[in-house]
Amino acid sequence: EFATLSDLIRGHAEERPDKPAMICEDRSIGYAALDAMLDRVAAALQREGLARNEAVAILGAPSIEYACTFFGALRAGCVPTPLQPSATPAQLAAMIADCGAKILFLDATGARALGDATVAAQRVALDDGDAGIAFHAFLAPEGSRPVPVEVGPDDPFNIIYSSGTTGVPKGIVQPQAMRWIHIARAPGGFANAVTMIATPLYSNTTLVSFIPTIAWGGTAVLLGKFDAHSFVSQAAKHRATHAMLVPVQYQRIMALPDFDSFDLSAFVLKTCTSAPFSAALKADVLARWPGLLVEYYGMTEGGGTTALLCNMHPTKLHTVGTPLPGQDIRLIDEAGNEVPQGEMGEVVGRSGAMMSGYHGRAEATRDATWHDAEGNRYIRHGDVGRFDEDGFLILMDRKKDLIISGGFNIYPSDLEAELGAHPGVADCAVVGIPSEQWGETPVGFFTGPGDPAEVLAWFNARVGKTQRLADLVKLDELPRNAIGKVLKRELRDRYAAA
Ligand code: ATP
Ligand code: MG
Repeated sequence: EFATLSDLIRGHAEERPDKPAMICEDRSIGYAALDAMLDRVAAALQREGLARNEAVAILGAPSIEYACTFFGALRAGCVPTPLQPSATPAQLAAMIADCGAKILFLDATGARALGDATVAAQRVALDDGDAGIAFHAFLAPEGSRPVPVEVGPDDPFNIIYSSGTTGVPKGIVQPQAMRWIHIARAPGGFANAVTMIATPLYSNTTLVSFIPTIAWGGTAVLLGKFDAHSFVSQAAKHRATHAMLVPVQYQRIMALPDFDSFDLSAFVLKTCTSAPFSAALKADVLARWPGLLVEYYGMTEGGGTTALLCNMHPTKLHTVGTPLPGQDIRLIDEAGNEVPQGEMGEVVGRSGAMMSGYHGRAEATRDATWHDAEGNRYIRHGDVGRFDEDGFLILMDRKKDLIISGGFNIYPSDLEAELGAHPGVADCAVVGIPSEQWGETPVGFFTGPGDPAEVLAWFNARVGKTQRLADLVKLDELPRNAIGKVLKRELRDRYAAA
């Protein structure tokens, strides 16, 4: 028998009915109330004729209702498909058509994002506003129970559209078994967890800490738009024990002038994933923020995941750690052969926690797959890295961001590390732009007080001839997506247009 997340929530409702499952601003919901709400959402979806494994789209800001529709869809045997309010109306319409959702739960934020795009799905307004039929009218009456639906490990748990950092969003189908591994991986301490949820609910980065918190019967504190000061004051107020944050959030939090005056002593575990996390920033977090710090490297598609237990490996902060147990990570060259130990290659990974595939895109799924000599399926990560002599993975760049100049491979991350060492540079990124002479040539972007001409001369005097920047542009801010990843594609486009 396969116990589902929905069964676990039911168990918590019986054992600790009043324990808060979620807190959002000045509201909270206990496990018994959550369980009853999931019944009402699930019964309503079944009333609307939704069948097992059908997608249910959700679009909006984090809220208790949002989470209830996510977990309620699961209870109905459906597939929650949370969408990114940062996507364009056309992209959102394409995603809704792609997953085939007949119901779209949305709030005012979601309605703004959707604009006047036409979608076939019936709209339900999570905030009872005018974005659709009111949530409270849609819900099945109190006391309703959905028809139990059996799901197995290979059935889809949810669909997540890739963030589109490097291209068009693709629907990543994550099966039940994959989520189970995420839940099982979370230490039992999550039962007493008070987890700060500070990233958007449509992102896997968020779900890998939010779902285990609920599965283990902990409390999740849902935050809205990220503000470093409000994050630490809320964390102190709720005696938070866990948080998953992205590097730019750590950067903003550690830069708070009054950071050290907050009592964060209840923290057990802070995690980080999604984007390069500098060794200096990790060291700062270790020194000034109590509790363990673990960095994960992985992707929504799954495959291989590494973890760096920063407290235990202070000399390895420049790496993303070692593969988790049960994860097989290899590095391959252009021809698809494994590279010798210590050499650079594209990361491919295999584990029990892998996507079933990209929804309706057999070709893209094939392109993202690598097979070893025994025919085992690995997922191509699109990132380039190498293992150090102790088996720690040093991540370089996304393959699409490598700069090939005059036949040489230039790793933007090398140049960014060098550029970032200038005292006048706060944040920086290097991208390749087309060059008639070299094929591609590196151009830098930075924020900070430095003078571009001075920083450029300083930089070019320090690096080899091929690594010299053709240009250096000062910006107020680097373009980032909603989860804090630098949008290099946008930097290239902007530079070409200027
Ligand atoms: P898309 O696939 O649509 O372009 P995306 O790859 O940004 O979007 P995710 O699956 O959320 O979407 O992100 C996975 C990627 O994030 C990895 O391939 C890697 O480039 C980057 N990443 C994840 N963890 C880390 C980390 N610890 N350090 C550096 N980069 C990381
Ligand atoms: Mg990706």
